[in-house]
Amino acid sequence: MKPFVIALDGPSAAGKGTLARRLAAHYGLAHLDTGSLYRAVGRRILREGHDPADATYAATVAQNLQPVDLQDPELRTEATSKASSIVAAIPAVRANLLAWQREFARHPPEGKHGAVLDGRDIGTVICPDADVKLFVTASLEARAGRRFRELQAAGANPIRRAVLEEMASRDRRDSERATAPLLPAPDAFVLDTSELDADTVFDRVVAFIDSKTRSRRA
Ligand code: C5P
Repeated sequence: MKPFVIALDGPSAAGKGTLARRLAAHYGLAHLDTGSLYRAVGRRILREGHDPADATYAATVAQNLQPVDLQDPELRTEATSKASSIVAAIPAVRANLLAWQREFARHPPEGKHGAVLDGRDIGTVICPDADVKLFVTASLEARAGRRFRELQAAGANPIRRAVLEEMASRDRRDSERATAPLLPAPDAFVLDTSELDADTVFDRVVAFIDSKTRSRRA
């Protein structure tokens, strides 16, 4: 049977990660945070003292990515965030990570009957035939505020203005790149989470998915 696939896209700190984990648990699906693949490439390049903008080197790292790279404790630092969005604009890096993501959607691990993939281009490029396409977004200010509080909670001492500026430049890189830019698929359910808490977002998305799958069954 064809696996049930949920494609979940949106900019950083729009609430994708929490939503993806909750949807996976609710529907019994596997979950792939595709941003962690780009983060792992960016992080390894920084660790090895190379320039993330070096396309040839970045493509080789993407091709040889190891499971241990996804466990790096510095995967979620601001330096890694920046490097990940630089490597993500390199077409050969994206090409080298594509087959792995599609394979996860086609053959979800642990015998699951489907998968939730969250990222930037899941509904447009990786899984254009996904059963459900979601695009969650929020204003730059709301997202920067969330990231600022996350960094504080993790014990860092962030500067509000710097967090906002870094997020704006990452948004620009993700949206303006030529290959697989951040875009809602034409058939995506778009939800602005600026004014919504995580429970409300979850409830609205579940209501949408259930109504969609009900109408398909009817
Ligand atoms: O989602 P997250 O913020 O962890 O992603 C890190 C970076 O990886 C993003 O800024 C984006 O440049 C890149 N990315 C991407 N395509 C995806 C997932 C992430 O380009 N499907």
